[in-house]
Amino acid sequence: MAKIIDGKAVAARVRAEVAAETAKLKEQGIVPGLAVIIVGDDPASRVYVNNKKKACAEVGFKSEEFALPADTDQSELIALVKCLNERSDINGILCQLPLPKGLDDKAVIKTISPAKDVDAFHEENVGKIMVGEYDFLPCTPAGVMELIKESGVEVAGKECVVIGRSNIVGKPMAMLLLHQNGTVTICHSKTANLAEVTRRADILVAAVGKAKFVTGDMVKEGAVVIDVGMNRDENGKLCGDVDFASVEPKCAAITPVPGGVGPMTIAMLMRNTLTAAKRQNQVSDEAYEK
Ligand code: NAP
Repeated sequence: MAKIIDGKAVAARVRAEVAAETAKLKEQGIVPGLAVIIVGDDPASRVYVNNKKKACAEVGFKSEEFALPADTDQSELIALVKCLNERSDINGILCQLPLPKGLDDKAVIKTISPAKDVDAFHEENVGKIMVGEYDFLPCTPAGVMELIKESGVEVAGKECVVIGRSNIVGKPMAMLLLHQNGTVTICHSKTANLAEVTRRADILVAAVGKAKFVTGDMVKEGAVVIDVGMNRDENGKLCGDVDFASVEPKCAAITPVPGGVGPMTIAMLMRNTLTAAKRQNQVSDEAYEK
């Protein structure tokens, strides 16, 4: 039977660490602040934003929500981001994606100060990840790395296959596995003989966005399988990109959906916001640990 990697438990541990560090920062008069921008009334975005605000409250951060109507003008949105860039009580800025049609998410991300870009989507932060010198990692891939660590499997020297090449998940995911000396293959919708490639994987990360896409015949015996997907099945139930029923019996460790990668994404956002607050207040990691 596969080890079920408990993302909820690992996320709770990360949040507890962040809360403990935040308490120490507060002794120095510093309260990490996260600004969350939501445009329009997409119900999924609303759930994500509420969860992020709740997590902020739990770890002791200040969070401020900026809810704008769907017909918000691009220049208004950019002006808001510029204003938040200037505020010393706001250390992290995130704009919940996707934005309503007509708004340019790339322009918004470019406007966020790289020092406050706690999602790590700004091209300056993306570049830093490529060269391996970064303050923030994108939350979902960073969370996946924590879960792989939790599985007890060493990445170095392993065949790692990532299905998906989005800027948010697939590409940075591959880069993080590479930094840890995995031998990495990235697959996408044009990949030929996908199952042949995925069957080589010691570590398989699925970030496709298709319910139960990865089936048992695509997985090597004893692999570690990380399911990033968040989809609805035919009954409207939340499910991942991995067909848990056929994959679980074959692998050594697997993340469930829900309760796997999802909780980690928010926990890593908390960690990034804490890092941003420390950097902006010139609190060094060493001084801070004393
Ligand atoms: P995305 O931008 O839609 O990217 C999907 C990727 O899957 C693309 O690179 C696409 O290839 C590839 N793909 C699609 N069909 C394929 C096929 N038949 N064979 C092989 N590759 C295929 O999605 P995303 O933003 O990366 O998100 C992926 C999933 O993760 C979604 O379910 C999303 O909801 C979930 N997600 C979860 C979290 C979390 O916190 N748990 C966070 C972010 C995303 P092409 O590039 O060729 O089109």
